[in-house]
Amino acid sequence: MDKVALSLVSPLSAVPEIGPKRLEKLSGMGFRTVLDLLYYFPFRYEDRRAAKRISQLVPGIPAGFVAKVRNIRKKEIRSVRVPLVEADLEDGTGTIRAVWFGQEYLLKTLPQDSVAFFFGKPEISDFDGRLSLRSPVTEKMDPERKSQKSFHINRIVPVYHEGQGLGTAFFRKTIGTILASLWGLDFDPVPAQIVSLSGLPAWFPSMVELHFPKDLPSPDNPDSLLDPRYSPRRRFIFEELFFLEFLMGHKKKEIQSVVRPSDYQISEDSLGRFQSILPFSLTSAQTRVMGEILSDLSRPVPMNRLLLGDVGSGKTVVAAWGIFLAAQSGFQSAFMAPTEILALQHHSSLSALLGPLGIRVALMTQAVRGGERRKLMESVYHGTVDLVVGTHALIQEALSFRSLRFVVVDEQHKFGVEQRRSLIQKGDVPDVLVMTATPIPRSLALSYFGDLDLSVLDERPPGRKPVTTTIVPFHSSERFWDDCIRPVIERGEQAFVVYPLIEEGETSEIRDANSMHAALSEKWPEFRVGLLTGRMNSEEKEAVMQSFKEGKTDLLVATTVIEVGVDIPNATAMVVENAERFGLAQLHQLRGRIGRGDLSGSFFLIPGRSASPDALERLEILVHCEDGFLVSEEDLKTRGPGEFLGTRQSGLPTFRVANLVRDQDLLIEARKRASDFLEPQLAEHVSHTWEWTTLMNFIRNRFPEVEEWLLVR
Ligand code: ADP
Ligand code: MG
Repeated sequence: MDKVALSLVSPLSAVPEIGPKRLEKLSGMGFRTVLDLLYYFPFRYEDRRAAKRISQLVPGIPAGFVAKVRNIRKKEIRSVRVPLVEADLEDGTGTIRAVWFGQEYLLKTLPQDSVAFFFGKPEISDFDGRLSLRSPVTEKMDPERKSQKSFHINRIVPVYHEGQGLGTAFFRKTIGTILASLWGLDFDPVPAQIVSLSGLPAWFPSMVELHFPKDLPSPDNPDSLLDPRYSPRRRFIFEELFFLEFLMGHKKKEIQSVVRPSDYQISEDSLGRFQSILPFSLTSAQTRVMGEILSDLSRPVPMNRLLLGDVGSGKTVVAAWGIFLAAQSGFQSAFMAPTEILALQHHSSLSALLGPLGIRVALMTQAVRGGERRKLMESVYHGTVDLVVGTHALIQEALSFRSLRFVVVDEQHKFGVEQRRSLIQKGDVPDVLVMTATPIPRSLALSYFGDLDLSVLDERPPGRKPVTTTIVPFHSSERFWDDCIRPVIERGEQAFVVYPLIEEGETSEIRDANSMHAALSEKWPEFRVGLLTGRMNSEEKEAVMQSFKEGKTDLLVATTVIEVGVDIPNATAMVVENAERFGLAQLHQLRGRIGRGDLSGSFFLIPGRSASPDALERLEILVHCEDGFLVSEEDLKTRGPGEFLGTRQSGLPTFRVANLVRDQDLLIEARKRASDFLEPQLAEHVSHTWEWTTLMNFIRNRFPEVEEWLLVR
């Protein structure tokens, strides 16, 4: 092997294995330096310590060996549809035949006389009694470099995901070479105090162990190397979470370093005045969160608060409190909701609530046009409007405020980072309250939204009627409509019917809103059946909702446009077809649309004909569990955080080894360490021994997406 002198910051071009082509591919994967590549960890391992010679192979016992490829050829056999590739493998002690099905590319990748590693279960062929292998795992080796052999066989070997056409053997060899040339390196990106406080094993030996483990934590089980408790792995999980929390905490400090006068005019009787206009008394959770907001607004740093609260927990009134405080201090507020329907609803309830206090409330949606829109923009600009409620129409460039100071983003997960940011930038470092009814488990929320302070509404207003959840088997769904839905409408109540699709899709397995609207209208000519989908324009939607609200429609067929916020007390039943197509948290949201008045509600889930037993079992959770936080914990377990949080939450950092759900204990520890470390006295102490910017760069490199992903500003 060439003698190479590499350091962690060496560009990958300095590594002998890497020529211009590979360099380009690696840079396409985001790798620039030696250090970047070292963090490309294997996703599994193979125990190849007992590599055999061909003469030692025993029928029925899986084994690996290195051999030369002879007579590789294509074979067409009439009884078998796919072409076969056959070869004789030879190592000087014997030969064995290998057969692959439908892998014609092997003719190219394993030419005559090439040397490769093979792994499989030898069997005696029924056909001619010879020892043979069916579709063995195959990995080509480069015959010119004898020494790399040791990276690929006679040891526990790492297996890497292929990337840009670069295969596992390449990564193994290259990373192996790099580690060999760095041998004995004394480096740790985690500050020394943290290493010792958390008892972390040293960086370099842990790195070596993750790529080229010497032994298995539990015998005969290579997967035990993937166990988060395996100490080298645990070290990197901690490291990853620590960096994340550190970056979040740092960002939060940065945001909070903006000091501006606390010029809200808050008086002793503010709360009393606000309470006097409410038609109900506040829950203690509401009172607590309002207190948190009040104390934020009394400090000379901007508020950045996330309000988590299950559907129906009463978040709107909490937001109204902030708006009220802003207005009484002469500041404007903006309240952004994800749909027209919701914006309308908030506009009407906030006007009713705050109007009597002299707060001037306006509505801004796509439907506000022409002269009306111009007038509205003028009032906002001149400050003759105190609160603008709206959809993303609020973030249009032309809308500017005189003194926007309080920003509310409702159902924040429905907005992209850029949309939230655009609204916030309309104010001069405004106070921000983002709200979500997706009840994210607390520890996940703390890290995912680490740049925010967290408030939780964990109590429901009293007097809510229960909603019963029933799973209706697909085969009895015909009778179901007459047995369960007809009586609801005959009682004068209303029902939603929700479908996963708007139009008929490729498969008739999944029902859609359009055709079911037609089918239900035909089935029940005596009832008034409405249709609401995301594809309608805002006037159409508004008209449909209005008619349903006024009781002029009995049954509303819809897609998930009604998922968030809609409040119609007389709607007491909801049917969700193809329920297995929805996430649990989403179904829980939908369920929150009913049982909002004095009447109890019924929630019916009809799984599709071919829903899996697993899916049915998952739905069962909703039958027994009314608590949104528990529902979402379950959802997280089955779906993982990325999918759970949805694609709109783009930029969820890609973890190499950590898993926010599985590693919650480490997350909590990492969070604590990071926040201690960010205390000024410690940071000062550290700056002597350690370069702050080096750390920041290192971390930013590891999480390039974090800037994008921070929730505000
Ligand atoms: P969400 O948290 O889902 O946004 P809302 O703010 O829409 O909930 O509140 C749901 C309903 O509960 C509204 O009709 C609201 O007026 C009512 N509400 C809110 N707080 C209370 C309370 N403390 N007591 C009784 N009703 C309340
Ligand atoms: Mg709401």
